Amino acid sequence: MKKALITGITGQDGSYLAEFLLSKGYEVHGIVRNNAIENPEHRFYRINHILEKLTLHSASLENYGSIYNVLEKVQPDECYHLAAISFVSYSFEDPFSTINTNVNGTLSVLSAIKERVPRCRFYFAGTSEMFGNVNESPQNENTPFNPRSPYGISKVTGYHLTKNFRESYNMFALSGILFNHESPRRGYEFVSRKITTTVAKIKLGLVKELKLGSLEPKRDWGFAGDYVKAMWLMLQQDSSEDYVIASGECHSVKEFAETAFASVDLDWKEYTKIDEKFYRPAEVFELKGDYSKAKKKLNWEPEVSFCDLVKDMVNHDLALLKKQISNVSVVR
Ligand code: GDP
Repeated sequence: MKKALITGITGQDGSYLAEFLLSKGYEVHGIVRNNAIENPEHRFYRINHILEKLTLHSASLENYGSIYNVLEKVQPDECYHLAAISFVSYSFEDPFSTINTNVNGTLSVLSAIKERVPRCRFYFAGTSEMFGNVNESPQNENTPFNPRSPYGISKVTGYHLTKNFRESYNMFALSGILFNHESPRRGYEFVSRKITTTVAKIKLGLVKELKLGSLEPKRDWGFAGDYVKAMWLMLQQDSSEDYVIASGECHSVKEFAETAFASVDLDWKEYTKIDEKFYRPAEVFELKGDYSKAKKKLNWEPEVSFCDLVKDMVNHDLALLKKQISNVSVVR
């Protein structure tokens, strides 16, 4: 039985990946922070349904010793390093934590693998934010990086660390450069989930408006469940190479909101307001991925369309809110 270790297993991608690897017959281990174990109801909500099948280890990305111990104990065949501070806005507010956790955390995992399990295959969660301010479109594996946020900078560094360990120590280490990927498990701070949950609240009469920052930026939005399959496929290849994973479609924040409101028969213009508080010090205006390498070499393609993704997220949020409302009325 193959063993996989996932950092960031409680997050959106970690939870889908854990489900996927269990379905492939893997023994799945995850690294979680101590405060997650102390507060399981809040932190484990995405993996509660599979908790009994997982083995969780307490460690911190900021502490090399703790990562080293987990690698030594688990001896994984594959390691998926997904844990990171991943919200772009937050990275402007606290760049030091973002750089520290994302850069040193990646270095810790790579170093511990090199020391204790050099045969372990390593996946680094790269991101389209590494491309940042682009001057070619669509972006592929050869497009130059021009990051526009501390988050993007931290990920470019993680990408180079991964490449350096591959080249220096002959490790099977690669980066998946994933464009934005969403789902009903997406954190509420990201624009996609913020829109779908607010649309559901408006539909149910719980709030009156949706406040957004800039409506013009365009993103290449796909479904997270599709993207974790690509992560796994990358690690099954004969050689370690980096891959762009994307939908190949580009939609603005405005289009996302329009589609979400339309799915519950509402007009986005009546409810959406601009609030400059959500503007960023530096914006990434347009991202669109070219996933032709993944299609050719991994035989991977996205399955869920933009419209279906948005509708699924709104429907999920409607059902969740209705359940919460009915629970409150039962308690009363
Ligand atoms: P990102 O692509 O990783 O930064 O993902 P986000 O979902 O956080 O943001 C996507 C885009 O939506 C960015 O260009 C944001 O500036 C834009 N945006 C507009 N209004 C908002 C908002 O209220 N919240 C967030 N998170 N993003 C917003």
